[in-house]
Amino acid sequence: MLSIRTATGYLVRLDPGEEVCGTLAAFLGREGVGSASIAGLGAVRGAVLGYFDGARREYLRRELPGEHELCSLTGNLSYRDGEPFVHAHAVLAGADFAVSGGHLFEATISATGEFWIATSEARIERKLDEASGLRLISGKG
Ligand code: ZN
Repeated sequence: MLSIRTATGYLVRLDPGEEVCGTLAAFLGREGVGSASIAGLGAVRGAVLGYFDGARREYLRRELPGEHELCSLTGNLSYRDGEPFVHAHAVLAGADFAVSGGHLFEATISATGEFWIATSEARIERKLDEASGLRLISGKG
């Protein structure tokens, strides 16, 4: 991992073997970032995507075997049970150029990952929303 300070936060390069969301969350937590928006691209393997089934209040999970282009990742940093948490959605493309997308549960960098991160000092927490069963952003301002 390489991080470069920018005027609005960081540019982070992740390297092969690094898990995307966990590595970014740990880094931003160490840096004391309260919240952030994240945009990224690169190449990954072992991606697990999710689709939230609102009626069942649970995620359908699908693992995508092999390597994929990480065409687009958009996400944010907040805190869940006091721990830094990256919520990200991703669009991935395989060798057949077909794309898959969804909630990103996990993915490991296979070639490189490039992430532009805009940070904020405002600490954002997530709290369980009984209606949806999701832990939603809960602002304290
Ligand atoms: Zn999601």
